[in-house]
Amino acid sequence: MPTLLLRAGLLGTGAGQELENGWLLARDGFVSAVGSGQPPVADDAVHLPNCVAVPGLVNAHDHMYQWATRGYVPDGGLFEWLRALYPVWAEIDADTVRLAARAAMARLLLSGCTLSTDHHYVFPRGREGIFDALVETASDLGLRFHPCRGSMSLGESKGGLPPDSVVEDEDAILADTEEKIHDFHDPAPGSMCRVVVAPCSPFSVTPELMRESAALARRHGVRLHTHVAETKDEEHFCLERFGKRPLELMQDLGWTGDDVWFAHGVHFNDEEVRRVAETGTGVAHCPSSNLRLGAGLCRVADLVRAGARVGLGVDGAASNEDANIAMELHQALLLARGRAALQGDHHAAAALGARDAWRLATAGGAACLGRDDCGTLEPGKCADVAFFRIDDLAHAGIDDPLAGLALAPPARAEAVVVNGKVVVRDGHLLTGDESTIAREIAAESKRLRALARF
Ligand SMILES: [Zn+2]
Repeated sequence: MPTLLLRAGLLGTGAGQELENGWLLARDGFVSAVGSGQPPVADDAVHLPNCVAVPGLVNAHDHMYQWATRGYVPDGGLFEWLRALYPVWAEIDADTVRLAARAAMARLLLSGCTLSTDHHYVFPRGREGIFDALVETASDLGLRFHPCRGSMSLGESKGGLPPDSVVEDEDAILADTEEKIHDFHDPAPGSMCRVVVAPCSPFSVTPELMRESAALARRHGVRLHTHVAETKDEEHFCLERFGKRPLELMQDLGWTGDDVWFAHGVHFNDEEVRRVAETGTGVAHCPSSNLRLGAGLCRVADLVRAGARVGLGVDGAASNEDANIAMELHQALLLARGRAALQGDHHAAAALGARDAWRLATAGGAACLGRDDCGTLEPGKCADVAFFRIDDLAHAGIDDPLAGLALAPPARAEAVVVNGKVVVRDGHLLTGDESTIAREIAAESKRLRALARF
């Protein structure tokens, strides 16, 4: 097997080592050795002394199809935003999803992301091939991928939020989910594709579908993902309809445990923070989306302190307008400190350290996704590495470059390696043409916008 040698001015392994003039040897998609000083001989090499190299970043929550509907309802909250967008989303098909996912994944890779989930839950009737388009796109662009077979089944006529036109029959959802697991799920170490079972939210599916989905996932040994405690509106909906707070509802439905991770987890009380941590349930914190929609400030520092698995997510680009996971790291750090200050914490600046923020974006996300082979750079782990320049105008001369990359504006990745293969080099995507992707998604967004007007 050919070997690839990666060298950087500073190599942060995420496992306690920060090596000046560090190197990493990749073989067959895995890290075979890490060190500093004189590197071993390899078949190929990437040598970037002007960069910091870190474990590839992990995106633990996204809806990639939303890249086609960015900028709608720029000043509205979640429910208002969703009600405006559902009819537009009802028009998507496999081509939309492919073009949007190409854009979202390209942006993720260029921000240093090497492993991402995608929570896809809109399957308009009669539109075939949507899930397959996501899997194929990740494979084309070279991204390690955990696609969620999401779902919505509770339409407006039954008291749910989405219009009936975008919900599916529950038996069909379960049958299709099982088929996708069969077709695409690879549980092996170093896997490039693992399928996740993911009904959308307490206000868009029934409790029965939640329960059945959990049973199905556990029968097949795959993970579970959904939205929980994102907004106060959701909390009111759950209290009104079920007489329970969102986490209590999910726990009663079998939706806590070390095979489950939630998106958001903004509105947890003290007892719920403890319960999330105790049950080993993960939380994907999505700071930009939460701030854009005015959803609230996640208790990320409290969750970390309680020992919960916490990762970061960009969320769909319709509530972020980007998919830059390095930006989420920066935002998470600032948001945690701002929140701590609002709570009267005299050490608010220490609420989430720069290296803690890096951990959320790497090992924390990998833990949410159930990947013990990703998130750090150690022998035997996946060879997923991101390089960021520290000699550009934004970062040159910053003392403590690893902290600097969290505190200063996020850098575009200079090089990205996924599964031992170089997919970004000199700040350019090697597996797709950025301008073509931009042109195509602009045309598709325009087409959807025109449909939505009628
Ligand atoms: Zn979401």
